[in-house]
Amino acid sequence: MSADCVFCKITLHQIPAKIVWENAQVVAFQDINPQAPVHMVLVPKTHIARIIDLTESNAFVVKDLIFAANELAKTLKIADGGYRLVINCNSAGGQTVYHLHLHLLGGRQMHWPPG
Ligand code: 5GP
Ligand code: ZN
Repeated sequence: MSADCVFCKITLHQIPAKIVWENAQVVAFQDINPQAPVHMVLVPKTHIARIIDLTESNAFVVKDLIFAANELAKTLKIADGGYRLVINCNSAGGQTVYHLHLHLLGGRQMHWPPG
């Protein structure tokens, strides 16, 4: 828990969010500013600021996030059509919230390059 972290507060249910899925390790909620018909944010319940902060001892959270996103994609019926998983790192990477998170985007055609 980081005291001033909005995503820690969401995992602790201290501020409202449209939580769609949760287990012991991960919380998934609707992005407040969706970029696709389906735009979920998946976060580990432990505070890790950025993907570059992963270590041998906490890297399991990435597996947890991806497995959760895959299951959610199936539940939301976007798995067969296709979906995109994104992790932004640092300012030029587009990261705005410094609590590691995985974006699950789907429900429309994705484009490349992503912009
Ligand atoms: P980033 O730009 O760091 O990769 O992604 C942060 C995402 O979190 C953005 O897509 C932004 O819309 C979303 N976000 C930021 N603050 C909140 C919030 O308080 N609630 C929810 N549901 N989403 C948020
Ligand atoms: Zn946090």
